Amino acid sequence: RTVYVNGQYLPEEEARVSIFDRGFLMADGVYEVTSILNGKLIDFAGHAARLERSLKELEMAAPATTEELLEIHRELVKRNDIDEGMIYLQITRGNPGDRDFAFPDPETTPPTLVMFTQSKPGLAANPVAQKGLKIISIPDIRWGRRDIKTVQLLYPSMGKMMAKKAGKDDAWMVEDGTVTEGTSNNAYIVSGNAIITRALSNDILHGITRAAVLRFAREAQMEVIERDFTIAEAQAADEAFITSASAFVMPVVEIDGAPVGTGTPGRIALRLREIYLDESLKTAI
Ligand code: PMP
Repeated sequence: RTVYVNGQYLPEEEARVSIFDRGFLMADGVYEVTSILNGKLIDFAGHAARLERSLKELEMAAPATTEELLEIHRELVKRNDIDEGMIYLQITRGNPGDRDFAFPDPETTPPTLVMFTQSKPGLAANPVAQKGLKIISIPDIRWGRRDIKTVQLLYPSMGKMMAKKAGKDDAWMVEDGTVTEGTSNNAYIVSGNAIITRALSNDILHGITRAAVLRFAREAQMEVIERDFTIAEAQAADEAFITSASAFVMPVVEIDGAPVGTGTPGRIALRLREIYLDESLKTAI
């Protein structure tokens, strides 16, 4: 695989980042994951806009313009001959040459930019969508700026492991009695024809797939309600599902051992998955 690091395209074995990089020592970095379908980037503009916001919120310098980032994305997709999969981008606050809590001067410590592709043949036709996910609920004990897409992913990793140990697929996180989001996705329930999902705030990541799916749902005359919901309400709902750049729209069929609806993927979730794949391909670049 050819990867990108700080201006260079290299075989992955040759790519290097300093042990003093603040991404490594302090999880001081942000990232984006963009999906690739038919060799094209899905919603690149959305990911680029969120990246810009994450950098700004953390007072971190941008190592490249959006146009330059697009060029690198395309070059990596081409060099690795990716038809379906993901492309990962990470920007950390660079290597100040020592360990110190204070942010280094970006003039002397430029950010580190790393990018690599992940080939996932069959991503769009993922058979898991016909089966649905079984999830557990866990307390949300993350920090208070979940709207910034940082590489601080230890708790989401622990959440995935808790699910795995319980023989389930994933976890939804709960704070003050209501669901915030999934470990790596946004959470939804369906009641009648209404799609219910938590409103945007610092409590959740502002999913790029979430924005697109809600827009497509409204365009298809479905009702969208942005509000908190509990696990009990989700268990009693007609349907449940998640969205993310790599899962697109994925039905949830069981929560903490209780079936959701009929315990099979919901009609609206599957329809939204279809619409999302169709519509987002039209604007892929
Ligand atoms: N919430 C969290 C915590 C996530 O990690 C992700 C995926 N990165 C999402 C939501 C979904 O965001 P997106 O649709 O932009 O992939």
